[in-house]
Order: sequence, then structure tokens, then C-alpha cells
Amino acid sequence: MIFTKIIEDEGYDKYDPVGTTDLICPSCKAALREFPDKTIKCPSCKSYINLRTRSSDSKKVILSKEQLDEFAMQGRGLLFNKSKY
Ligand SMILES: [Zn+2]
Repeated sequence: MIFTKIIEDEGYDKYDPVGTTDLICPSCKAALREFPDKTIKCPSCKSYINLRTRSSDSKKVILSKEQLDEFAMQGRGLLFNKSKY
């Protein structure tokens, strides 16, 4: 992964911000009854569901444990698109 090259080629605005604003578990896609206000465990698959405020658009998003790493990188400006690279 060569971050500098990607940033030069793609620009900062051409990445997919990680996380979802939908009321679904990021791990098993089960519907959630309400938007959690703190880290909870999915009632369906027992995975942790984490809450963060996304810096790019200030929206609260739901993240799986795995997505937290990517979210942290995006927050530091190391932006990349996993699906393309
Ligand atoms: Zn789940």
C-alpha cells in the first residue's frame, strides 16, 4: 500500500468513508432497533458495534471492530479505497 501515490492519483475526496449511517450491524447486517449511543454488542451475532463521528461529514456512523482501523487511518489523512487497491 503506497499512500502517497494514491493520494496524488485520486485526491482526498475520492475515497469511500468507512462506516454506515444505516441501522444495521456491520458484521451480520441484522437490523438494529435504534441507533446506539455507545459501543454495544449486536443482539444477533454478538459482535461489537462501535460508534464514531466521521470527520469528513460529521455524521455518526456504525463501525465493526475491523472497520475501526480503517476509520483511524482515514482520520489521520491516510486515505485509500480498499475496493480499488
Ligand atoms: Zn451482528
